Amino acid sequence: MPAPDTAQLSLPLEHTATADNNRHCLLLGGQRIEYTIRRSARRHSITLMIDEQGLRVGAPQRASQQRIVAVLNTHAAWVTRKMTEWHARRPAPFTWSAGAQLWVLGKTLTLIPDATQDSTRRHGDHLLLPAPANNSQALARAAMEWLRLCAQEWFEQRAAHFAPILKVKMPLIRLSNARTRWGTCHPHGRVHLNWRLIHMPPSLIDYVVVHELAHLHEPNHSPRFWRRVEAVLPDHIERRKTLRTDSHRFLLP
Ligand SMILES: [Zn+2]
Repeated sequence: MPAPDTAQLSLPLEHTATADNNRHCLLLGGQRIEYTIRRSARRHSITLMIDEQGLRVGAPQRASQQRIVAVLNTHAAWVTRKMTEWHARRPAPFTWSAGAQLWVLGKTLTLIPDATQDSTRRHGDHLLLPAPANNSQALARAAMEWLRLCAQEWFEQRAAHFAPILKVKMPLIRLSNARTRWGTCHPHGRVHLNWRLIHMPPSLIDYVVVHELAHLHEPNHSPRFWRRVEAVLPDHIERRKTLRTDSHRFLLP
């Protein structure tokens, strides 16, 4: 008998799928410039645009790389000036240090190292960590341990809330560390949820919990499956879309 197709029941971390396929970089006036190319059959000329994600080049389907580089060189002064401004606007990269901000349930907590503590403790919007300020590894370890405990507790509570509504037996909830999926439903009532979901707003976590619990009835993505999800979360399409487009901003690098 073939093994049950658990992959079919997984909820993929979709935003990673297409990222970085079209990333390029070049030197302009001594500055390393990264950019993304978006090709389109409807486009007739090469356009340059800088948004939150950085420099984007719009190009006709068949435009050569050479032609794109030529346009970037023609506008080198504009590109380098705008990209310098863009870098200055960006938040500093995350480091495990005093004052760093961590997303937990869609809200930011500020990390406060406090070596006099004997365990990690949340105090309002501060997370007090039992580690010295100059030991980023110890800070990371303590915070991760706390995040996982917090995730286990939150996911179990939400599953216990939704299980009777969906009329399923409360499954065993395990944390997963998958890089590619939010959740997986295994046969025999075992649900794996990605611990990183604890960074997300509760409404998005609920969507994943309900999605996986509904698989305990319907081990597929049939219309019947989606009807079960919809009966509990009428706005599930919106939540799924938000998870796809917004979730990356809550994750640690
Ligand atoms: Zn699914």
